[in-house]
Amino acid sequence: MRVNVSSHDLKVLDHKHHLHPFTDHGALGVDERRVITRADGVWLWDSDGNRLLDGMAGLWCVNVGHGRQEIGEAVRAQMSELSYYNTFFKTTHPPVIELSEMIADLAPDHMNMVFYGGSGSDANDTIFRLVRYYWDLMGKPEKKTIIARKNAYHGSTVAGASLGGMGGMHEQGDLPISGIHHIAQPYWFGEGMQSGMSEDEFGIWAARELARAIDEIGEDKIGAFIAEPIQGAGGVIIPPTTYWPEVSRILEERDILFVSDEVICGFGRTGEWFGADTYGTKPDLMAIAKGMTSGYLPMGGVIVSDRVADVLHEKGGEFYHGYTYSGHPAACAAAIANLTIMKREKLVDSVRDQIGPYFRERWLGLGDHPMVGEARMKGLVGALELIPDKKDLMKRFGDVGKVGTIARDHSFANGLVMRAVRDSLIISPPLTITEEETDELIARAHKTLDDAWSTVR
Ligand code: PLP
Repeated sequence: MRVNVSSHDLKVLDHKHHLHPFTDHGALGVDERRVITRADGVWLWDSDGNRLLDGMAGLWCVNVGHGRQEIGEAVRAQMSELSYYNTFFKTTHPPVIELSEMIADLAPDHMNMVFYGGSGSDANDTIFRLVRYYWDLMGKPEKKTIIARKNAYHGSTVAGASLGGMGGMHEQGDLPISGIHHIAQPYWFGEGMQSGMSEDEFGIWAARELARAIDEIGEDKIGAFIAEPIQGAGGVIIPPTTYWPEVSRILEERDILFVSDEVICGFGRTGEWFGADTYGTKPDLMAIAKGMTSGYLPMGGVIVSDRVADVLHEKGGEFYHGYTYSGHPAACAAAIANLTIMKREKLVDSVRDQIGPYFRERWLGLGDHPMVGEARMKGLVGALELIPDKKDLMKRFGDVGKVGTIARDHSFANGLVMRAVRDSLIISPPLTITEEETDELIARAHKTLDDAWSTVR
């Protein structure tokens, strides 16, 4: 790492040589970029000396907080013992065995095997291929179509972006690829309220979109339904309480696989180990990443149910799929240390029973602000919907996304990292956040709303 390089020089070099993800490079000025240099707990420091509260846990991933020395030590110890070996061709190694046992123990009872990759996106690519391979083995190769949802995010690879339901991503590069069908999302504030239905009715209606799609396309052609328990990048879409029970009922009656994308919701975010536990669904496959290592090293994977694993075992044959870094020993060591911390500190219990309810009450209090149409939160993930007129909850700002971005910029200026999705603000802090830090976060969020309101009103 370079030392004694000025903040400005770092930004110039970044500007010259670094292409960023999800960034309009034409619009990103040299000095607009922020260089994060250090982090500890829920706090970040940048190269200009600012201290920021990390309300997004990095990118929804640093569940145990930043700067945990024991994860670094576990990785270093693993690297001096066995820094790399692959898991192809009949080989394996102790950390991948230990981690797999650990994850199988945390996962729902009917899920006992793990396939590894390096990210949430490639986990969903694995799922795309595995669903088709499963139905081939079952002698039903025509069951290829995967039903997904509008405004979902399942990653940036070709399969991930296709499974996702983001219009902007689809416009670039002729996506989605064939064999994917998108249905409505259960977005009450954005779409349901305007429908004339009650929230419960809207939840049932959105769930039945799945049944309608299956019946229209034909159950014999559908391989799977994929969904995030709570849509994260789409704007923290917490479904009406009627939604998941009705989806589960529909799935029980039909012979298709259910894929729960737990990349954000997994590992405690919703107050249980997995979003499927929170909502009582029964997945056949779960995509995991992010909180699995709390982002200390890149890792993702797929948790596979007995239903699917038994077919792979019994029918035999090679699944021609894998990544050089599947089950990377150092990433496994990071994941084991991370999950050990989560268990020892009872972070999932705390999200469900302690810090989660405390944070939620404070966050929902922001709903009284004149600019907030809805404040919502489940576990430790939430959103604020920004609107121009509190007396008319149906009314929205004209140029969608502009006010959200203004508010997000005020948030950074107030030393709080929140994310903007359209005209909403998103929060997803480390699960280790304390009550005192929560109070600090809420004060900064409140100030952000005041500042944004005086800018736009
Ligand atoms: N699935 C979901 C639900 C996600 O939120 C994300 C990333 O935010 C992904 C998949 C993709 O994960 P990654 O960025 O690790 O490829």
